[in-house]
Amino acid sequence: TIANSQYRRVLLKVSGEALMGQGSFGIEPGMVEMIADDIAAVSRSGVQVCLVIGGGNIFRGVAAAAKGMDRTQGDYAGMLATVINALMMQNALERAGIDTRVMSAIQMSAIAEPYIRRRAVRHMEKGRVVIFAAGTGNPFFTTDTAAALRANEMECDVLFKGTQVDGVYSADPRRHPDAQRYDSLSYQDVLARQLNVMDAAAISLARENALPIVVFDIHSAGAFPKVLRGEGRFTKIIE
Ligand code: UDP
Repeated sequence: TIANSQYRRVLLKVSGEALMGQGSFGIEPGMVEMIADDIAAVSRSGVQVCLVIGGGNIFRGVAAAAKGMDRTQGDYAGMLATVINALMMQNALERAGIDTRVMSAIQMSAIAEPYIRRRAVRHMEKGRVVIFAAGTGNPFFTTDTAAALRANEMECDVLFKGTQVDGVYSADPRRHPDAQRYDSLSYQDVLARQLNVMDAAAISLARENALPIVVFDIHSAGAFPKVLRGEGRFTKIIE
């Protein structure tokens, strides 16, 4: 059913919060399993898939800095949180029968390969799902920026951002029931209206390469294969 996908290679950004499921911290194994099953289905259909996993379900540098922690130190802790999530996702994908590699932007040779662009491409050409961990490897960045960066480097056709809501709204729909939902937006709209979808660095990087961003709700079984077919509700950010 996904075989007619127009995409050759895609990057899926999974926020740390998506892995919490109904919880408010940490990881809900059932949720990771569900997302992994969807990724497995897409990978089996022949689309090359790579992932960037967030860490906000465990640790965020900004939040720690607000409580007095050194920001840079907090950001490194946040990057390590993404490695924990990446290992959980790798485990779930392997259980689903998919070959994977974790590539970390911070060297951690016992558990992950170092990030090497050409090697990452090669893994995907062999049908492996590559999980990019530790963000960009630099403090003061986010995993959204890492997602835009890696998607550009991997020459992905599109960056899918799996979130808690079914697209981009004019305001947080959970607090403003009358918020307007957009089907499509330009990079400029997102920046000028300061829409809370991805930080400006991520949007700018995507714009640099005319990389389309598709924002969708990842919280139901089948959501990722569905949005890949262009079905259901989502917001597309393009030129
Ligand atoms: N982080 C960082 N540099 C990066 C990516 C992430 O310093 O390139 C840190 C930052 O502290 C961030 C945390 O890792 O708060 C977790 O990532 P993020 O907040 O992007 O995760 P998400 O919101 O997707 O769960």
